[in-house]
Amino acid sequence: MTEPLRIGICGFGVAGGALAVMLARDGHQVTLLERAPKVGPVGAGFLLQPSGQQILAQLGLFETVARRSARIERLEAFTETGRQLTDLRYGRLARGMCAYGVQRGVLFSVLHEAAAAAGVTITLAAEIAGVVETETDVRVRDVAGREFGPFDLIVGSDGSRSWLRTWLNPSANGRREYIHGALWGSGRLDSPHDALHQVARSARQLLGLLPIGEGRVAFFWGLRCDALDPLRQRGYASFREEVAALCPRALPVVDELGSFEQLSFAGYLHALPRRVHSRRVVLTGDAAHAMSPHLGQGANLALLDAECLARLLAQGPLDEALPRYALERRAHSRYLALLSQMLSPFFQSDSRLLGWGRDLALPLLCAEPWMRRQMELSVAGLKRGFFDRLI
Ligand SMILES: Cc1cc2nc3c(=O)[nH]c(=O)nc-3n(C[C@H](O)[C@H](O)[C@H](O)COP(=O)(O)OP(=O)(O)OC[C@H]3O[C@@H](n4cnc5c(N)ncnc54)[C@H](O)[C@@H]3O)c2cc1C
Repeated sequence: MTEPLRIGICGFGVAGGALAVMLARDGHQVTLLERAPKVGPVGAGFLLQPSGQQILAQLGLFETVARRSARIERLEAFTETGRQLTDLRYGRLARGMCAYGVQRGVLFSVLHEAAAAAGVTITLAAEIAGVVETETDVRVRDVAGREFGPFDLIVGSDGSRSWLRTWLNPSANGRREYIHGALWGSGRLDSPHDALHQVARSARQLLGLLPIGEGRVAFFWGLRCDALDPLRQRGYASFREEVAALCPRALPVVDELGSFEQLSFAGYLHALPRRVHSRRVVLTGDAAHAMSPHLGQGANLALLDAECLARLLAQGPLDEALPRYALERRAHSRYLALLSQMLSPFFQSDSRLLGWGRDLALPLLCAEPWMRRQMELSVAGLKRGFFDRLI
């Protein structure tokens, strides 16, 4: 163990929460600074891949999360006419391997409890909007003008629209907003299944059902950001009819949700900043690599970032740990961010041609065992670069 450090983590999401637990258990003095006035998760559910499961297992938190989540054996996608596009199976990679559909609230409460038990100081309603970095320490300021610090290190775990990413990369922070996003909610489904079930109409419409445990599923409905208001104006009954036409199986969830107020909208963003650290500031999670959620990797990458940074801080001084962290995490996060950037238009775009090409190519690719394996390794989070694990 190196010298204990005073560490401020901006953002209590997946990356910030997991990192806080790891660092506090390693003996560092950790303060979590969170913008929200109340602790709690945002959004319905996500896929915990084998890569992310390993990290939670190292923290001793995996069993608790898995018990309250749904085992996901397969990722399946269909066209509106019922033709199968993909059938990716975790069990083909290793016996017993699977993903988990996790309610965000479950992971969050587990991390919150572990952080409190490890002695992390949690400060809420602290939206960080200023940094003063010197040779000897670093301080941050929130929008209300309150100062926090001095710290030896500030970690920017402030999500896809990270303020700290912009601070580190004032001229080019590699950020691009997608014109698409999705409405998200969750509800009960009587016939639980073991797959992420997606239905696509061309590249213009994508619906998904992800079991998230305790009889619940997360429902998502992809759409253009500028189509949200017109959809609301057409009314919920009309939306229900659109869902019924694409995937009648989703109707019980849509009926339980009952109104647009019960659905949240998330717009997607891609960001791969040039700099992920300075002397005393470093980025993790979406702040370091924001991507569209089509590959289901962001939360898993956030956990892997946290593990890597905590491990390197335990092995050596700050000025060695931060460059090594950036180097070690670069290939995997760039690979998945670029892959999701490449593939997203095939699932959500205005192009009929891309939707048509996807419907033609995906079943052929999935029928070819080597290609299918590359896809299965990538979604499991086990393929970490275009040339990684090519056999
Ligand atoms: C619709 C959707 C579906 C997704 N599905 C999946 C999936 O299936 N699998 C998967 O792995 N990933 C998925 N993701 C991605 C995943 O949610 C993110 O990658 C993951 O949450 C990133 O964790 P994070 O800790 O970096 O950021 P977040 O979890 O977003 O946490 C950031 C935290 O920082 C706080 N914050 C922001 N700004 C400030 C500030 N200035 N000061 C202080 N605090 C601040 C926020 O309030 C928040 O609490 C999905 C994302 C979306 C939008």
